[in-house]
Amino acid sequence: MSRQREVLAWNPEHCRHCFGCIAMCVRGALTLDHEHGVLSYNIRKCIRCNSCLRACPTGALHVEAVHEA
Ligand code: SF4
Ligand code: SF4
Repeated sequence: MSRQREVLAWNPEHCRHCFGCIAMCVRGALTLDHEHGVLSYNIRKCIRCNSCLRACPTGALHVEAVHEA
């Protein structure tokens, strides 16, 4: 039986690389690759507080439901 889990998703087309989400994350779950401009998300560190979503001025972050086997 599969179970549903909520994860953070990032839309690079809407990201301005302002670091707002990274600054708000108390768990260090978000990092930005400066060279390639890619936001990385460590789900094991995330406590789903949604501070990063509230901090994002462009709506580049949202929550997605994934199904795990
Ligand atoms: S939901 Fe909270 S813990 Fe998870 S990445 Fe965003 S700010 Fe960090
Ligand atoms: S707060 Fe939003 S726009 Fe800024 S770096 Fe994070 S995802 Fe990108």
